[in-house]
Amino acid sequence: MEQIIEYFNNISSAHRSIILFGGLTLFMLIETGIPLFKFDFNRWKHLGLNLFFTFTTILVNFLMAFILINTSIWVTDNAFGIIHWISSFRSEPNVWISLIVGMLIMDFISAWFAHWASHKVRWMWRFHIIHHSDMNIDASSANRHHPGESVIRFSFTVLAVLLVGAPIWLVMLYQACSAFLSQFNHSNIKMPKWLDDTLMWVICTPNMHRVHHHYRQPYSDSNYGNIFSFWDRIFKTFKRVKNQKLRYGLDTHPEVHEVTNVISLLKIPFQTYRPEIRYADDENLED
Ligand SMILES: [Zn+2]
Repeated sequence: MEQIIEYFNNISSAHRSIILFGGLTLFMLIETGIPLFKFDFNRWKHLGLNLFFTFTTILVNFLMAFILINTSIWVTDNAFGIIHWISSFRSEPNVWISLIVGMLIMDFISAWFAHWASHKVRWMWRFHIIHHSDMNIDASSANRHHPGESVIRFSFTVLAVLLVGAPIWLVMLYQACSAFLSQFNHSNIKMPKWLDDTLMWVICTPNMHRVHHHYRQPYSDSNYGNIFSFWDRIFKTFKRVKNQKLRYGLDTHPEVHEVTNVISLLKIPFQTYRPEIRYADDENLED
């Protein structure tokens, strides 16, 4: 544990990039070997577009990193936040308590809650549309976020660090796990059912997350989780469906040219709002 803390306390930007792009490469290779859906689209073009949004996400996080770092330093210096309070304000909270409580709360606030809010609050949804407009979901879809959404998510991460009282090593470890799990649960990998079912008790698997990318509601308003799967079970937003029945994309944005062009994607949050589409029939995709 000491070495892990030491490593993440001093992790360089180069190592963070290696984790991000290493994970992406790993899952893209596995997808190529055992895909769930056949890749009948131009993977390079799809990757290029999603990498653009991955780079804008990195840029936003890089430009605002000083806020995150200073928040972490401040909470540590002032023994502020949940891990300090439950450790009775000892100068060094127990590392295992920090790890478990910190990962749980950071995943809840900066991933599950931020994501749930992005579906419920209209101005936030306007930015989140870009993530959902992807008509082909694979590992590269994980970081397809409008720069505005990257700022929103960053703000929730700062809030989480403040509430947790997270030291730098915990923030860096959480962000590495969060990026890796997001790539994993967006990947187009066909996994053995027993493995997926077992993992799904604790973490969000691809089989669990895919339904979130179904083209219409109410299925798209479920399974908001990123690392841990139990938040959706606790808040009754958990759904299990036959993945083969899914159709990716967004019914309000069905035009391929609109959702495959960088400029038009960047403009989406600022366009006239397209209201939710009502359907006469109810779908049933349950497993
Ligand atoms: Zn979403």
